[in-house]
Amino acid sequence: MATFPLPFKPTLSYSAGGRRFGANRDGGKRKHAACDLIAPKGTEIYAVEKGKVTYGPYLFYRGTYAIEFRLDSGKVVRYCEIEKVASGVSVGSTLEEGALIAYVGKMYVDSMLHFELYAGTGSGPLTVRANPPYQRRADLLNPSDYLDSCALRTTTP
Ligand SMILES: [Zn+2]
Repeated sequence: MATFPLPFKPTLSYSAGGRRFGANRDGGKRKHAACDLIAPKGTEIYAVEKGKVTYGPYLFYRGTYAIEFRLDSGKVVRYCEIEKVASGVSVGSTLEEGALIAYVGKMYVDSMLHFELYAGTGSGPLTVRANPPYQRRADLLNPSDYLDSCALRTTTP
């Protein structure tokens, strides 16, 4: 079983409203490519499974950053709208399941983890503006069921 990426399950469902995967953006011209996990700035973010940091951190949205993490299972997670990565985490880092990888960032008002999941069968950049409506690589997945299946972290790796 994978580990939930935050120390708690958010009060506001990540599978409802504007937080859900597929919610409209830009008046319907674009769709939300992630689940938004509402949490205070600075909340710890964990590796959902064992994997390796492959790219980042890089500027993502409104002063927040993203980091890409390839799971040993082959799937790719992009942790977005983060404040910063954890100490010692950089490209090439191998992290055990449940390891601290980053911290939740804050945009103008909101703070959350924007959690993107990919099957890992594609190649190239994850953001593809020319691929509507998600503007993401073709192997993008709805992460709701995956997040539902995660257990809260109980031990520190
Ligand atoms: Zn989002």
